[in-house]
Amino acid sequence: MTLAHTLGYPRIGAHRELKRAVEAYWKGEIDAAALEATGRELRARHWQAQRDAGLDFITVGDFAFYDQVLDVSVLVGAVPPRFGAEDEVARGDVSLDTAFRMARGRAPTGTPAAACEMTKYFDTNYHYLVPELYRDQPLRLAGTRLFDEVDEALATGHPVKVVLTGPLTWLWLAKSREAGLERLARLDELVTVYGEILARLAEQGVEWVQLDEPALVQDLPRDWQQAFETAYHRLQSAPVRLLLATYFEDLGDNLGLATGLPVDALHIDCVRAPDQLERVLDRLPAYKILSVGAIDGRNIWRADLAALRERLATARMRLGERLWLAPSCSLLHVPVDLDSETRLDPELKSWLAFARQKLDEVATLARLVDNRGDDADRAALEAATAALDARRRSTRIHRSAVAERLAALRPADARRTSPYPERARAQHARLELPLFPTTTIGSFPQTAGIRTTRLAFKRGELSREAYEARMREEIAHAVERQEALGLDVLVHGEPERNDMVEYFGERLDGFAFTDFGWVQSYGSRCVKPPVIVGDVSRSRPMTVAWSEYAQSLTDRPMKGMLTGPVTLLQWSFVRDDQPRETTCRQIALALRDEVADLEAAGIGVIQIDEPALREGLPLRQSGWQGYLDWAVNCFRLSAAVARDATQIHTHMCYSEFNDIIAAIAALDADVITIETSRSDMELLDAFQDFAYPNEIGPGVYDIHSPNIPEVDWMVALMAKAAEKIPAERLWVNPDCGLKTRGWAEVEPALAAMVEAAGVLRRRF
Ligand code: GLN
Ligand code: ZN
Repeated sequence: MTLAHTLGYPRIGAHRELKRAVEAYWKGEIDAAALEATGRELRARHWQAQRDAGLDFITVGDFAFYDQVLDVSVLVGAVPPRFGAEDEVARGDVSLDTAFRMARGRAPTGTPAAACEMTKYFDTNYHYLVPELYRDQPLRLAGTRLFDEVDEALATGHPVKVVLTGPLTWLWLAKSREAGLERLARLDELVTVYGEILARLAEQGVEWVQLDEPALVQDLPRDWQQAFETAYHRLQSAPVRLLLATYFEDLGDNLGLATGLPVDALHIDCVRAPDQLERVLDRLPAYKILSVGAIDGRNIWRADLAALRERLATARMRLGERLWLAPSCSLLHVPVDLDSETRLDPELKSWLAFARQKLDEVATLARLVDNRGDDADRAALEAATAALDARRRSTRIHRSAVAERLAALRPADARRTSPYPERARAQHARLELPLFPTTTIGSFPQTAGIRTTRLAFKRGELSREAYEARMREEIAHAVERQEALGLDVLVHGEPERNDMVEYFGERLDGFAFTDFGWVQSYGSRCVKPPVIVGDVSRSRPMTVAWSEYAQSLTDRPMKGMLTGPVTLLQWSFVRDDQPRETTCRQIALALRDEVADLEAAGIGVIQIDEPALREGLPLRQSGWQGYLDWAVNCFRLSAAVARDATQIHTHMCYSEFNDIIAAIAALDADVITIETSRSDMELLDAFQDFAYPNEIGPGVYDIHSPNIPEVDWMVALMAKAAEKIPAERLWVNPDCGLKTRGWAEVEPALAAMVEAAGVLRRRF
């Protein structure tokens, strides 16, 4: 019999119950007992969903109040010394508040300390807390939470499978905090702790433990491949059966390593990497179970059960009872329950599956593959096929005009008329900016007033006219403030935008929105990505009226503000029926029309934000160039329609540019503003080494901090920048948009920034 299971389930709850409880606890509105009760309730509900769907295991260990990688750090005693939790670690009982302090720097109890760094989990939009490694810190079993949850799960009477981030992936995600300390130097002690964890789970009566090792889909150095061998040879004596889970990509050159490790079962992602199924089948030892990730754990489309049944027939034949089925990865990355979407139109709804529906898909597929499906299973299969057929034929998906426009594209469409030096002359003549021109990244404070106004409009309590009048007031206020501060290139402040992706998605054809399609991004923060359903096009201008109005209020240049094609793609659920690159080109052409319209309306500076360019990089370097080629081309398609005298800006905010500097230069934006202040301008080295030819605005102060930056400090930073980039090509601006700050912080900070620019102009 083919077993059905899931690698993990979203823990936030269908209505973000976990978010509410955790935030209430932080604010002191509920106590720890109430928080724990919500956790228990959610776990029970999620296990019940897995049983109801007919899965053969319930999965335990995927729950976390903040982050599952953080929970492993706590479990193995890797609490950084600054949190002062040595006693808790020694007692083997690190508290929830210590974990919260690691995550956010503070908690209802305990002394605040600098939070751990947070970063994206592989190529997802989920952020984990980076484990920290110290040379002399003893690693030891230091948490009880997992074991308590296992008891809870065992009490349900259903077979239990425990999931934990595997030791090598935990270490791969970790950072050494001491000079000369190699991460692998901590492996031996870490594996000892994992051995203890497994032994304890076995004592509790657990048979199966899933160790997540997605590090195996990345380019691993030889010593890390060797470390996998060493660690798993040690763990094979553990009194449990191990399922080694890989996901997000093809195993590639780690395929032999992964199939050969001494574990009882291997999970592979056959959605991202369908071709590896045959290769793995050929290499899998005869004793080993193969868990095939057949249902997409990263996207929201309904599965093609008929095609999958056919596709899995060979695997079933070759593996017999050794075949398991699951979603490709944990369902953490998709929304919880499609049934919550009461306002979604039935046609679109019939094309989708969220986490709960995906559980049904896995279980149904397992029965179909075994030919033990009942009438309900056959009906499910037929319904899936009918929905897919409808989707393939639907006119809301395929628009011939979009396809024709794409087909007619020529290389010249992605090239500005003249090279940068000529454009710069035309722009400088038109804009007449001083040396070290000052600007901001786009948004100004999203005040409570703005948010309540938007909500009232959304609820129908405020007319469109009244809403737009209020937004115009906000824009006028922002323009007036910027003029008073003496900024050179102004922005309208983006008060009308709820979110930089949603705003454009709502105005483009081909996008759809859900009410409850929340996915955890980090901690209690969730995002609700739009769904790109069909061919994308723009039927009318999206931003022009606002920018035009803002420009009418001032003689200074007003910067038009757009979210770039790669970022719109990257922060949405995308179509699975055409390459990402095709969808991205469609978005690029829609934005191209907006650029042309802004220009025609007299806007002389247009910024196309691409903060997500870097995160679209594939997990393996072999895929980088191909991705960067089309991503850069899409940006250029959006921008290249601009005349020479129109200045195109872009903005990016993340820390590493070294490895993609050639692509950044290839964007050929006239000006790029980047986040640099926290790196002491070191991030500019990449631009200097590359002899980056266009203009750069290295952020001079960190907008994440409420502190007002010092004039001297910003002058010093810019002086440093001028050693790397010629002063004529430098701009002065903050690190990022100001929407999360208040005016009380923004005004003095920008005043100081403008003053710094004045000092610089006198000096250079
Ligand atoms: N223009 C956007 C803003 O200022 C850019 C946001 C971002 O970089 N993520 O808010
Ligand atoms: Zn930014």
